Amino acid sequence: MSILSPFRNLLNTRHDIARNLKTKGKKVIGWSCTYTPEELIYAVSALPLMVFGDVENTKLADIYLPVNTCSFARGCFNTALKGDYDYLDGFVASSSCDNRDKIFDMWRHHAEIPYMHFVNTPHTRTKRAQTFFYEEILKLKTWLEKSFGRMIPEIRLKNAVEIYNENRRLLRRVYDLRKKEPPLISGVEALEIVLSSMVMLKENHNELLNRLLAEVSSRADPPKGGVRLLVAGSVMDNSKLLKIVEAVGGSVVADDWCTGSRYFWNLVDSNGDPLHAIADRYLNKIPSSFMLGQEERFGHSMKMAKTFDVDAAIVFTLKFCDTHLFDAPQLKEKLRTQGLPVLLLEWEHSLSGLAQMKTRIEAFIEMVGGV
Ligand code: SF4
Repeated sequence: MSILSPFRNLLNTRHDIARNLKTKGKKVIGWSCTYTPEELIYAVSALPLMVFGDVENTKLADIYLPVNTCSFARGCFNTALKGDYDYLDGFVASSSCDNRDKIFDMWRHHAEIPYMHFVNTPHTRTKRAQTFFYEEILKLKTWLEKSFGRMIPEIRLKNAVEIYNENRRLLRRVYDLRKKEPPLISGVEALEIVLSSMVMLKENHNELLNRLLAEVSSRADPPKGGVRLLVAGSVMDNSKLLKIVEAVGGSVVADDWCTGSRYFWNLVDSNGDPLHAIADRYLNKIPSSFMLGQEERFGHSMKMAKTFDVDAAIVFTLKFCDTHLFDAPQLKEKLRTQGLPVLLLEWEHSLSGLAQMKTRIEAFIEMVGGV
């Protein structure tokens, strides 16, 4: 068994694990946007769990949603209709894009989740936006305390910040393993590590990461490497596409998307008032594309490309994800000015047209590898 297997197993059995925790009295609260301050959910003694979308089949969601809905949001709603997340005690959404906002209404109407809350996330980072977001975080805290009958004292919040920051530091160290050539972990493995951190208790994930970091240098099955790639885009909540990329000669060594570096790159300041520090961290983290701050976002992509010494980049944009689609041509331009070949790929979360995508990825990697 590979030392990476526990992360994949956890991902595959996440519903069973969450249900099992429930039998022991733990509440489980779903979230769907990385602007959700998980520390507060953790501090109310619940498991914060990211909702992933259904792949391949969204027949139930298709009944209700217009055809031009983002396929990730569609996939998530499909899981709700199917009852995959029927164990959730609560669900927290955040106003990151129109698709997500509207889908929240659909969840509220169709999913039978006892408690639901919406965090109004500003799309700018002005002083007023900061004050507004702090108030939103305060509202979330009050909602959690009332809904789940447990107060969140400062000490619990500080403890949550410590555990979450530790997870972020460890994930940074895991990413450092990809600076080597060949990298010590593959892109698929890195993605599965980050995704698993989103669905389990962070202290348990920290333990697994520490074990991995202690043992990885002597692993028996290291990746073989290939054309070093940066991948960028919105979300990638399963590893099927990266498996294809790495099967045809790519070696994904860096990323800039919500289910990768953007999720854990920034720490919460552990000095001072934790609630202010949490609000500050989430509003000012590496911005997703709904947030004003294109230069900073592109800057992160370019820095990742340089630090991880990539040969090329693939920008994966989800169909109908307007915010990322608007950014994509400019991001492509920026990366090209750094001398990098860039492939722009629009994909469906349902993975339709996979064979055609594989052909394009293969041709691109061959072209870069042959330079
Ligand atoms: S993938 Fe894009 S459109 Fe879909 S929920 Fe995320 S940001 Fe919104």
